[in-house]
Amino acid sequence: MMTGIVRVETPTYIILTYGCQMNERDSEIIAGLLEESGYHEASSLEEADLVVLNTCGVRHTAENKVFGKLGQIKVIKSKNPRMKVALGGCMAQLPEVRGRLRKLGVDLIFGTHNIHELPSLLEKSGTKGTLVGVWDKPGEVVENLPDRRAPGVSSFVNIMYGCNNYCSYCIVPYVRGNERSRASEDILAEIRRLVEEGVREVTLLGQNVNSYGRGLAEEIDFADLLTMVNRIDGLYRIRFMTSHPRDITPKLINAVGSLERVCEHVHAPVQAGSNKILQLMNRGYSAEQYIELTEAMRAGIPGVAITSDFIVGFPGEEEEDFAQTMEVVKKVEFDAAFTFIYSQRTGTKAFTMENQLSRTVKTERLIRLNEVQYKLALEKNRRLESKVVEVLVEGPSKTNPAKMTGRTRCNRLVMFEAPSSEVGKLIHVHIDEAKTFNLLGSVPEGNNLQ
Ligand code: SF4
Repeated sequence: MMTGIVRVETPTYIILTYGCQMNERDSEIIAGLLEESGYHEASSLEEADLVVLNTCGVRHTAENKVFGKLGQIKVIKSKNPRMKVALGGCMAQLPEVRGRLRKLGVDLIFGTHNIHELPSLLEKSGTKGTLVGVWDKPGEVVENLPDRRAPGVSSFVNIMYGCNNYCSYCIVPYVRGNERSRASEDILAEIRRLVEEGVREVTLLGQNVNSYGRGLAEEIDFADLLTMVNRIDGLYRIRFMTSHPRDITPKLINAVGSLERVCEHVHAPVQAGSNKILQLMNRGYSAEQYIELTEAMRAGIPGVAITSDFIVGFPGEEEEDFAQTMEVVKKVEFDAAFTFIYSQRTGTKAFTMENQLSRTVKTERLIRLNEVQYKLALEKNRRLESKVVEVLVEGPSKTNPAKMTGRTRCNRLVMFEAPSSEVGKLIHVHIDEAKTFNLLGSVPEGNNLQ
């Protein structure tokens, strides 16, 4: 029997996120804006009325992945006339990329500075061709945007946007704009809200968190902010990334070493070990200064884990320069490192530099670097075998759902068996076996920390 009830279909969306944690956090805000506008999350690309690609422009490989995906989406879209495709993130800020995007059936291109405009831009889009709604420069930081956070005990919190450093290989200052810090009261209010919702760990995010506070009306630096966040009851752990080595001050080292909720882990990318290359990269420190800094961190932050990024095969890197990078790797004994082959990025200073290296040379050096770094990481992890460490239980492992995962204060990933009731708790875990990228452990009886 007909009831007279009309079924109103709600539009659905799916977000594909590429790149760094900043983009992951932006995608949470994009999801919040869409849900506030009446969208629901789709379970697959085929079912989505709206596909949002939140892109990364840091390396050509990331860009190529997006173009590949757009080709696939174009086929799906041809069978689903309702579908709209919107593209945001760093690629949207690059004028030379936009022409190609138009040809791939993108309905809307929106930028990194005006995410809050997404709902109104979507309404205007889809009638003729590609609508470009991109701001070239950032405006004021927009607070109180809705978001849909990834569920879990750990959350990202932006403390600043943009970067003023202009490292010669990096596109970020061009696509994310100059540094803008959020007011401390807004950051603290957001973290308090998260804690009320059950979050136990926050990672304070920025391209260079150490320069937090510059340009704000309030007198505050990053160490002061850590001190304030450390006072929030119910929060167990505070992490932060990324730190430009040049801006890690003795005051910050002292704060990380003395504030009980701040974890003993500093991600301080050195990028290279040759002073010639560091200068060409415009990094603002020498290899000697970096090594001194790591010594100061080890002295001031007991048990600190120091991790880094490396770019191998920068223009002009000779075998001698690469050998100096290997020296730094061995001397500092990084706990972990992200290693990359230099990728020529249009629009950066390094793009036009002479002496670009062949892919073969770059790949061969990357393999050598990884071999040494992985060996060092394994050795360091082995020092934890038979020890008991504090772990914040995050939830079932993605690779082995029968096990739980969590991290040590030093950011090492641990897998162990535990009931789901332990999620969100700090527990003791005995380390049974060390691997290069994680630790396998077991939970001793009656060893909860809360
Ligand atoms: S510090 Fe350098 S590498 Fe990091 S975002 Fe800024 S310009 Fe890029």
